[in-house]
Amino acid sequence: MIDTYRHKGLRKQLVQELREKGIKNEAVLDAIQAVPRHFFLDAVFTKQAYSNMAFQIGAGQTISHPFTVAFQTELLELKKGDKVLEIGTGSGFQTSILCEVGAKVFSIERQRELYLKANRIVPELGYTAKLKYGDGYKGWPSYAPFDKIIVTCGAPYLPEDLLEQLKPGGTMVIPIGAGKEQEMLLIKKDQDGILTKSMLGVFSFVPMLKETAK
Ligand code: SAH
Repeated sequence: MIDTYRHKGLRKQLVQELREKGIKNEAVLDAIQAVPRHFFLDAVFTKQAYSNMAFQIGAGQTISHPFTVAFQTELLELKKGDKVLEIGTGSGFQTSILCEVGAKVFSIERQRELYLKANRIVPELGYTAKLKYGDGYKGWPSYAPFDKIIVTCGAPYLPEDLLEQLKPGGTMVIPIGAGKEQEMLLIKKDQDGILTKSMLGVFSFVPMLKETAK
């Protein structure tokens, strides 16, 4: 696949649209400008890759809207070198955005087909993320604790293992809700392990399911 001037121009417009919708973090906007979203989509969607839409990525899953990706990434307030755990690698687009912002990324996906695809494309773009085929409810204990945790599927409840694997001083962003819509929950863990939670609006994600898919 190639990244043309036209694609770069379309991303510029997308960045402008995200600014108008309230995204302020320049590092996040730069990452949206830098990562070619059309690489993560089937060729039939290439033309629409830079509209603020979700698309099918296989295995019945969808890549998140660019606004959602930018919004969740902004909430993490990433610093270079932050260790980030992502649940729901999906296409690998959000993974690549996190890498572009300078995070050290660990990402888990329960659909083998998607894990394999992301494991090819993310390194192809020059990013080094550690990807795993597994159940995100369990987190990734051998690399814990994490400075930041981002969940990109709708969780019916707050998974205890993920909370445990969040560093004191850390931040987690997770859409909570069992139905079609979820509340974006921002969780901060202080040095004493005390949690502060805030609700930041309604979004619509594919569900966070248990175990790996067959
Ligand atoms: N971040 C992705 C979003 C993909 S949609 C992107 O940028 O494309 C959410 C993904 O979460 C889906 O691929 C789905 O298979 C995955 N998922 C659902 N439940 C999961 C679980 N328990 N563990 C890991 N991944 C899960």
